[in-house]
Formats: sequence, C-alpha cells, structure tokens
Amino acid sequence: MCYIKNMADLHGDSPHEHEHDFGISCDDCIGEAAEAPGIKPWYREPRVVFLIAAAVVTAIGLTLDWLLPGVFAKAVLGLAIILGVVYPARAAWDSLLKKTLTINTLLIAATTGALALDLWEEAATLVVVFSLGGVLETYAVERARTSLKQLVDLTPREAHVIRGGVETLVAVEDIGVGEFVHVRPGERVPLDGRVAAGVSSVDQAPITGESIPVFKKPGDAVFAGSINQKGSLEIEVSSLSKDTTLAKVIQSVEEHQAHKSTYQRFGERFGRIYTPAMFVVALSVMTLPPLLTGAPFTDWLYRGLVVLVVSCSCGIALSVPVAVVSAIASAARRGVLFKGGAYLELLSGVKNIVFDKTGTLTYGEPIVTEIIPFQSIPEKRLLALAGAIESRSEHPVAGAIMAAAKERSVEPAPSTNWRSIPGLGARAVIDGKTYHAGNQKLIEAHNISLSPAESALKRLDEAGQTLVFVTEGDDLIGLIAVADTVRESAAATMRDLKAAGINRVMMLTGDNEATAKHIALEVGLDDYRAGLLPDDKAGIIVNLISEFGPVAMVGDGVNDAPALAASTVGIAMGAAGSDIAVETGDVALMSDDLSRLPFILNLSRRTVSIIRFNIGAALAVVAVLVSLALLGRIDLVPGLLINEIAAFFIILNSLRLLA
Ligand code: ADP
Ligand code: MG
Repeated sequence: MCYIKNMADLHGDSPHEHEHDFGISCDDCIGEAAEAPGIKPWYREPRVVFLIAAAVVTAIGLTLDWLLPGVFAKAVLGLAIILGVVYPARAAWDSLLKKTLTINTLLIAATTGALALDLWEEAATLVVVFSLGGVLETYAVERARTSLKQLVDLTPREAHVIRGGVETLVAVEDIGVGEFVHVRPGERVPLDGRVAAGVSSVDQAPITGESIPVFKKPGDAVFAGSINQKGSLEIEVSSLSKDTTLAKVIQSVEEHQAHKSTYQRFGERFGRIYTPAMFVVALSVMTLPPLLTGAPFTDWLYRGLVVLVVSCSCGIALSVPVAVVSAIASAARRGVLFKGGAYLELLSGVKNIVFDKTGTLTYGEPIVTEIIPFQSIPEKRLLALAGAIESRSEHPVAGAIMAAAKERSVEPAPSTNWRSIPGLGARAVIDGKTYHAGNQKLIEAHNISLSPAESALKRLDEAGQTLVFVTEGDDLIGLIAVADTVRESAAATMRDLKAAGINRVMMLTGDNEATAKHIALEVGLDDYRAGLLPDDKAGIIVNLISEFGPVAMVGDGVNDAPALAASTVGIAMGAAGSDIAVETGDVALMSDDLSRLPFILNLSRRTVSIIRFNIGAALAVVAVLVSLALLGRIDLVPGLLINEIAAFFIILNSLRLLA
C-alpha cells in the first residue's frame, strides 16, 4: 500500500534528505517508521492505535447498518472514517505541499469519491483495509531492515580498559589505538586488535561467517564483534571504534544504494510514473464515458473509484528493495559483503570465474623449501640479503623469506631505498649496491644471465614451486624456492561451481608456468595463464568478457586491484583484517573460504528470479483487476482486498531471501 522512494528508506535514513530523488514519497508507512528513533512496540505507534480504533468502530458501524440502517449507522461509520484518515490525511497534505502524489492522496481521493456516492460502508472499509495493508507492509520492510541493523548491534558500546593497572569501563569511542582492553569469557570483542595475553577460542562467525570458533593466542588478530568463548583475553587495540573491520562492513552495506540493480531502477522509475498515471486513468474513466456518451455519471464514477483503488499495489515498488536488502543481509550474516544490489544481478549472469593464485587458490602462506646460493656466498648471507630486500614488501613470498630468516636467526642486512615491483618482486640498496629479489621475468627484464641457476632450475621446475631469484647488480647470486599449499576446499569448490552451471574456471597468475600448471591440474581448472603482471591480468579479463560474456574475478586484493576492477564482478577474499580487500572488489568474502562462492552464486540467482517473478505477478494482478474494474465486473471492497492480499504475498516472497 505504500511506495518506497529508494533504498534510503530501507536503511532508516530520514526520508526528507532524499525527497527530491523521486516523485513518489512514502511518508505514510516507511517514512513514519524511519523517523521514529528505534521501533516502538506496535501498540504504541499512534498510527496503529488510530487504525485499531477505526477498525473497531467500522465493525460496529457495519453491524448497526445491517441491523438498523439509517442515520445513526452512518454517523458511526463517519466516526470510523475520521479516525482512519487522520494519519493518511496529514501525510497527503504534506505531499501536496511538496507537489507530489502519494498513495495517501489516492486514499483521500478514493474515500471522498465513495462518500460522494453515499457509500459509507465502502468508504470505512477502504480506509481501514488500506491502512492495515500499509502497517503490515511497514513491518515486512522493517524485518528486512532490522536484519541489517543487527550487524551494527554486534559491537559492545563499552569495554574494560586497563589504564595505570586499573580496569575501568569506558565507552568504545574513547579508547585509543595501543590501549589494552580486557575481554572476559562470554563477552564480545569491543575493538579490532591483537591478543597481548591469554588464550581463548573466539567465535568470528558474525564477521567472517566461519562456523567454528578460532583459537587465539598472543599475537593473533581479533575482530570487533566476535564472541570470546571460555578464556580471558587481554587485547592491544589496533583501530578506533569507527575504523573496525565491522564498521567498514556496515558502512559499505549502507553505501550500497549507490549501485542499484536495473530492477531497483525499474521499481523507482515505475513508481514515479505509476501513481500520477493511474490518477489520470481513473479520472478519465469517471468523466469521459458520461461526457461522451451520456452514460450514467454515478456508474462511471464508481468504476473510476475501483480503478483508483485496485491500481495502488505497492507490491512492485516494494518487492524489489525488500528482496535486495534481504539478500544482502542474508549474505552479510554468512560473512559475504555485497556492495550493491547491482552486483547481485551481475553475479547471477556470470558464466566464467577467474581466480588469482597466491592467497586465493593457495593459502598464501608459503614457506621456504630450499636456499641455493651461487658464487660461494654463504647460505645465511644470501638469506640476510633477501630478507633485507623483502623487508618492506607485503607479498606472501616476501613473508616466507622473512619467516625463514627469523627461524634461522638471520638478521636482514642494513638496507635502504626499498621498492616493491608489483607482479615481479622487490628491490633495495645494500652497501651502495642495488639488489633485486623476484621472478624470472624480473631477471629477464634486467638482462641478467640465468646460467648459474641452470641445473637447479631443471630440478625445481617440475615441482610446482615459486622460485625467487636474488641478484646483486647484474649478477645472479642465489635462488630461493618457496612452496605454497593449495587450499583444501579449492577442488571441491570448482566442482560445485561447475555443478551450479559455471562454464569455465580459470587461473591468472604472476608465477611461473610450471607452478601454474601444477596447481591448475591439482585444483581441476579449465585453463590458466602464467607469468602475468597485474595489468596483464586486467587485459585478459577484458578479452574474456568480450569473448565469453560476464566474468567474475576472485582475488585477495593485494595486487589484483586492476583485475578486480576490470571484471564484471570483482570478489575480494579474506577481507577481514585487510583494509584493501574491503575497499577493492564489489563483493567481499570476509573469510577466505572459497566454498562461499557457490552459495553467493545461488543466492544471486534466487534473488533475481524472485524479483522477476514478483514484478510479473504484481503487474498481472493489477492488469486483471483494472480490466475487471473498467468492465464494471468487480466491486470496490473485493477489489481492494484482492489487491492488498496479493501485495502482501509478493512482499513475503521477497522476505524468503532472509531465510
Ligand atoms: P600471484 O598472486 O598470481 O602469484 P602476483 O602478481 O602477486 O601474482 O605475483 C606474481 C609473481 O611475482 C609471484 O608469483 C612471485 O614470483 C613474484 N613476486 C611478486 N612479489 C614478490 C616479492 N616481493 N618477492 C619475490 N617475488 C615476488
Ligand atoms: Mg595474489
């Protein structure tokens, strides 16, 4: 029974901030609820109280009218109408001042028309059923909206901060980075941070969707909103309350209205034209036949009224945003963040999925398996040099080298001028000389001879390891082999994606051909390309799209940003804890669980098919009812009831996506 302007209404923003976006406003139901601070219990909403009073008085009036028709019954019905129109009339007046037509204007017009025809019973029923529809639909929308709000309520408002050895309860906004907070058993973690003392399992499901609690020991990262289980933890805070991973998730979800699906835009455009158009149609029905053919005026006035009443279904206008919000909320509960309804729609059409290798198909936590120095350099010296070159790089390969150095108690050599070379490696200056560490492409780009490594390369090439070449000036001084394990779930995910109708799964990697081939076989990929730079990946995706249609790219966000941006839908993995991943990507998997992919694919398809069905069903109901009304084959009250019931079911259908 109401029109929704845009997604802002579903987020509880003040409707007035957006009132010019859209001709139709929705002050009657969504607006009221949105302005209220929080949702009052239903029996305390004045609108509901008036509605109940109107319904009771209408019932009395209808009974009286049946037992003893006359002025007294009409007076009671009149009272019911007055009670019922207080709120709609106020809203209709507001919208009239704004020169917009709303469903309330429609209600007032229809009631006036019914009274002009001396149809008191119909007028009272109209007011009550109309408002009842509005209230029920508000609550349906509210259901979808609160499931998003629940995300916000995950973080505690206060935390036990340890200041000067004493624990004090402080509002989370007043806690700074570097302070220590105490999280007791059963409490929620108040802010992102690292465990400083204590061990415990922590349930991260609200953020990452992982169902099993994760064991945390000193040094491990914890996220605001996750639930501490049995142990007691002392946490060193790493971000302000407005910057936590969860806060970013919520912010992203809220910004999603900027990226609307075509269905959402259709719903809005439809709403903008629809109400005024129906007014015109109804007015023509009321006036044209009597004026042109001299048919009885009251008969056509009645038909016009029925047209007006049966055409005000908000099923169409509401079902789309409700479906989108429900789907986004349901994904968010499982640790998947959609940054807009548009991406649900785009993902539903994807037939090709492209994966990055390191950190996506593999765990991205490689370990050094072999250190091969050339030119009689000691192994530890090679590691000290490599550690120095990699000390500022964020690539997982660099992490492996740093870890190997630490493990063997090797201090990185003093170095300056670090630079990472995306997709190739890194470099630094040590004792005035330039050193590089990187893949074969990097060596070739510097015209450095590979001959010292020949025999080692032959042996290692088949093993599917990543090879890091270390150079000093123009000389190759060593080789470090790094191995990364393929994710356990990778092969099963590829099978599930194929079963879900994906035509082609493919890998793009900057690593060497041998490693790529090895992994492609192990995971069961259809195709792969190796030795790519980040920009090459983007170029390949552009070609894939023009050849095979929509492509989703799954990457870990570290240096896949160009590829994620070039794809139809960019999916960033392991977003919890990584700022870049939340920001890049149209969809973010908070965990790095590949098995979420078949889930979101199916969710997106279900959303789109529910939306299509709802739009079709709503249009069909309106078309049938309006035709019957034009033919004079349906009365006001039955038409009204059918219309309301249909709208309600259509909205319930959208809400199914929450389950
Ligand atoms: P992918 O994620 O597919 O491996 P990247 O673009 O992240 O692709 O990296 C491509 C390749 O470049 C890596 O496989 C690695 O061989 C090399 N590389 C990138 N950064 C570094 C680094 N800091 N140190 C050594 N090698 C690197
Ligand atoms: Mg990568």
